[in-house]
Amino acid sequence: MDYRIKGRRALVMGASRGLGRAVAEALLAEGVATAICARDPVRLERTAREIGAVGIPCDLSQAGAGAKLVEEAARRLGGTIDILLVNTGGPSPATFDKIDDAQWRAGFEQLWLSAVSPIRAALPGMRAQGWGRILLVTSIAAREPLPNLMMSNALRAGLHGMANALSREIGPDGITVNALMPGYTLTERLKEAGFKAEEVAKTVPLGRIGKPEEFAALACFLASEPAGYITGQAIACDGGMLRSI
Ligand code: NAD
Repeated sequence: MDYRIKGRRALVMGASRGLGRAVAEALLAEGVATAICARDPVRLERTAREIGAVGIPCDLSQAGAGAKLVEEAARRLGGTIDILLVNTGGPSPATFDKIDDAQWRAGFEQLWLSAVSPIRAALPGMRAQGWGRILLVTSIAAREPLPNLMMSNALRAGLHGMANALSREIGPDGITVNALMPGYTLTERLKEAGFKAEEVAKTVPLGRIGKPEEFAALACFLASEPAGYITGQAIACDGGMLRSI
């Protein structure tokens, strides 16, 4: 299928590794000029060189960082950001009793405001040209809460509400916005969190953990021209984990 996005410009957040990197690679393969960001400048630069992206160091949990990032990416890529993938690292696991008010506020900055601020910055350019694709990486935990992931369960569900409501506001401008819910996908994060691949695989209907490139294929399609009638949705790439219909 011709995705008809060759020559477009994308900003993929949180992309020195994991899902973000896989999405950036998929977009680059479609001929999309792509900027990536992450906190660690050394690792970011290495990834940018390996995949052929523009690397922009940025800590998305800092106030205003997302807006500056969008400006810088547009400058370095030479025009409006057409495709924005909003993605950061996930919160630490915890139950309700283990999270105090300061941690809730920090979680809100990390998971919520880090999504809102770049979208706000990218919208004027997308509106002016009457075309845009916004994708938010959330989690299957946003639809069906998972044990010990209170922060993710609570805050990411709100992002789905925001994406759906926003789709009504920006649809007339030719811009789509969708949330993508990864299930268990083999990234460094999953390994670091101590998940045992063979144990997790037993809980997945397809009997295995997902590959980052499978998630990236969904993101790349939703960023494409042929996906122009899909908006306001939260779509899982989870090997069949979610039961809700
Ligand atoms: P990862 O840790 O492998 O990669 C995260 C990327 O984001 C890295 O490049 C990291 O440098 C960057 N990053 C983290 N915090 C940042 C910040 N403050 N500013 C800028 N960049 C930052 O994670 P992943 O597995 O690719 O997951 C990506 C997202 O998807 C996370 O939010 C995670 O919770 C969610 N998710 C992942 C899975 C999975 O199985 N991998 C499942 C459900 C949800």
